[in-house]
Amino acid sequence: MFAGNVSTILKRISTAAARAQRAPEDVRLIAVTKTVGADNIKEAVDAGLRSFGESRVQEAQKKISALRSHIANRAVEWHLIGHLQKNKAKYAVGLFDLIHTVDSIGLAEELSRQAEKAGKVQRILVQVKLSGEETKHGASEEEMLSLLARVKEFGNLSPEGLMTIPPFFGEKEKARPYFRRLRELRDKAEAAGFRLRELSMGMSDDFEVAIEEGSTMVRIGSALFGERKA
Ligand SMILES: *Cc1c(COP(=O)(O)O)cnc(C)c1O
Repeated sequence: MFAGNVSTILKRISTAAARAQRAPEDVRLIAVTKTVGADNIKEAVDAGLRSFGESRVQEAQKKISALRSHIANRAVEWHLIGHLQKNKAKYAVGLFDLIHTVDSIGLAEELSRQAEKAGKVQRILVQVKLSGEETKHGASEEEMLSLLARVKEFGNLSPEGLMTIPPFFGEKEKARPYFRRLRELRDKAEAAGFRLRELSMGMSDDFEVAIEEGSTMVRIGSALFGERKA
């Protein structure tokens, strides 16, 4: 059952990649496990998944320690995909391989400080807000380049790409311009001298469109684990 979901999603990822003349291995599946219990995550590890995305530091902390022995020496990666408050930066650095949601200089500076203390170079993505939605987090298009420039000065951060969450339309084609825009911004930043390989974009309802537009990391929850109750 669960292994069947995984292979269906992997097949859809490679079909979408092929349509865009891209290699399927250039698109990474991040299994989003917010609200998913540790036992189901074990099953996902056993089905071969290795990258997991969590929204909240505390929830992730509990699950990561519960899963420690099960994961043992399998190369599992944890991704933070939810908004991060500065006062939790220290814990985030201790838990996550990649933080997708850096959206301010203040947060970047604190993450770098904590990473330095921990003797780590923290991999990050810059979250960009492409819509005017008040409730969403993310740097504006204008802020993105200045944020990247400052991040370069922080010795313990490695910026690897951009992330976005388009507004919810319930119709996947409507998300396409946002995905395309993020790729254009990435290209613009690369032309300005930043090296940004990753584009974290696409969720259960629209990941195929995101892949056609260049996504390298799709964040998929409900299509793998079923609808969330919370
Ligand atoms: C919950 C969440 C996802 C996964 O959403 P699904 O629609 O369940 O695939 C992806 N990205 C972020 C930032 C999320 O919060």
